[in-house]
Amino acid sequence: MSKYYLILAIFAVWAFAFIPAPSRGVYPIFLNLTLLPLAVLAYLEGAGIVITAAAAALTFFSLYAFKIKLDFVAAVPIFFAFGLTPVTLGVLRRAYRDMETMLTEGLLKNEDAGRLLTDKNLKLQEGLRGLDEKVSDIASLYEITKAMSATLSFPDTARVLGEFLRKNFDFKDCKLIFIDEEKNQIDKIYRIETGLPVASNPGPEDKAILSEVLNAKRIMHKDDIIAVPLVSRGRMIGALNIKGLSQAALEKFLIVSRQFSLAIKKVRMYERIQELAITDGLTGIFVRRYFLQELDEEFVRASRHKFKLSFLMIDLDHFKECNDKFGHLIGDAMLKETARVLKHNIREVDLIGRYGGEEFSVILPEADRVSAGLVAERLRRAVEANIFKAYDEVLHMTISVGVATFPQDASRSGDLIEQADKALYSAKAEGRNRVVFSGRVQ
Ligand code: GH3
Ligand code: MG
Ligand code: MG
Repeated sequence: MSKYYLILAIFAVWAFAFIPAPSRGVYPIFLNLTLLPLAVLAYLEGAGIVITAAAAALTFFSLYAFKIKLDFVAAVPIFFAFGLTPVTLGVLRRAYRDMETMLTEGLLKNEDAGRLLTDKNLKLQEGLRGLDEKVSDIASLYEITKAMSATLSFPDTARVLGEFLRKNFDFKDCKLIFIDEEKNQIDKIYRIETGLPVASNPGPEDKAILSEVLNAKRIMHKDDIIAVPLVSRGRMIGALNIKGLSQAALEKFLIVSRQFSLAIKKVRMYERIQELAITDGLTGIFVRRYFLQELDEEFVRASRHKFKLSFLMIDLDHFKECNDKFGHLIGDAMLKETARVLKHNIREVDLIGRYGGEEFSVILPEADRVSAGLVAERLRRAVEANIFKAYDEVLHMTISVGVATFPQDASRSGDLIEQADKALYSAKAEGRNRVVFSGRVQ
């Protein structure tokens, strides 16, 4: 709007120049004054109006010069002043605007670059946060792997996993289901948070997904349950079933479950090695070294609590003949079967070991002479009645048993064995297939 006022002002002054005036000198002053708004106009409004203004100024000046009959020499500088002022200002303005545009563009470019940098920074920070999370994930995975690998029993391994799961994941329930490979059915179920066996049977959903895992031998999803197979030496030994785990946590859970699977495998191997170290390969009962160790422990317990403790020394009758007649392979089978029969006829708390080649011993904790005699007689009869089927042979076998009891027959474990051995020797001497007590006090 201001430009119209300016134009109006300029023309008003110019019009005023044509009004007859008392003094000629007044007009040029007014005329010169119009240079100022002209310049402002040119500066503010740019090229189009500059040219218009310049043309108007020149036209006006020509008319005016003609009117006052201005001589040429005097007219030229004024002519130029009127023509050039708006042009110069217009040019200046253009230059200023150009510079301004340039600066603005530069500024915008800088702003863009700044924004780009901010974006990059944000992304880097995000990446850094992601890396931080990954590092802490890896660290915690490393910790649990280390903790699990330090355990040597299943409840400990399960407890470590349970603690880790509780700390790191949101889930409803997590169970470890072991299968009996031979019977192809569920063997045991453990609640992973406690590492303790679950008394109840598996739910139908657990069963369904377990059978799928067994068939597919890979991770299965069903509703909100994820089941991870546990494999040991190429065979499925069970599955880890977790309920209500979020998808986001799945990857981490799978890593942990893989580690858990390895840890379980190691625990099983350890148990197996232990078993191998303490059990006899042929008969599956304790080896002599371990058995004697157990006897010492039972002795300490019996002494401390003033319990009785009985010991049986058992020897197969005429076993050498059996070997000679049917060969060692059949002899071995007979030994194995005898061990099975003996084991079958003792209590859970009694311990049976292979004392020598064809000699077995039984520790009967808290058993006095009378009950030890009953056990010994039961064993003797069981072996006598057993039909031994070894390969194509059907045989019979008898045993002789020597019985000794703490504290009446001996006060130290070595002496107790010796007493039982002596009683056995007597049983052999008296005709075999019988039970003889140490000291013969009945
Ligand atoms: P006795 O009634 O007096 O005990 O007569 P026996 O023939 O059983 O005599 P003894 O107890 O001395 O016999 C031990 C035999 O047991 C000798 C050995 O060949 C046999 N034997 C020992 N260990 C093994 C084994 O691991 N396998 C087999 N097949 N035979 C064994
Ligand atoms: Mg013998
Ligand atoms: Mg013998």
